[in-house]
Amino acid sequence: MTIIAKGHCLCGHVSYEYSGRIGPANYCHCEDCRRCTGSAFNIGVRFDVAGFRIVSGSPKAFTKRGDSGFELTRYFCPECGSPIYTSSPRHPEYIYVKAGTLDNPNLVKPTHQNWVAFAVPWSKIEETLPAFTKGTGSVPAQQPTAVDDEKRQG
Ligand SMILES: [Zn+2]
Ligand SMILES: [Zn+2]
Repeated sequence: MTIIAKGHCLCGHVSYEYSGRIGPANYCHCEDCRRCTGSAFNIGVRFDVAGFRIVSGSPKAFTKRGDSGFELTRYFCPECGSPIYTSSPRHPEYIYVKAGTLDNPNLVKPTHQNWVAFAVPWSKIEETLPAFTKGTGSVPAQQPTAVDDEKRQG
């Protein structure tokens, strides 16, 4: 079968490839996803488990019952700690790959958000925040600002 997606962790120890249909991506704002990503939310892309193959490395697994009442097993690189994918006995035919591990980020097509009742205020990036093309103090990024919006409307 044709490989349509590849990905790997930060250190490269764990890598995978996938042949199959790229499913929808979802944002998850639950507390467990916040903790295991260390960020405001997780973005998971649904893959058919049948088309997914670990090419190198052996991800470590951690299983925990979520607030949903269902157990989720999260797989991550034992060397660098990057989260790689999640599986659930509720949907054994799927896995949910961490969007940021994909070599081609354009494959990620978010369709919905889950657990928004638990979203932190900083999960939305205010467009008025100072923005730099690279690190702090580098070239400012061109972003629409509140002032620009007023000008456009006015
Ligand atoms: Zn790694
Ligand atoms: Zn979650």
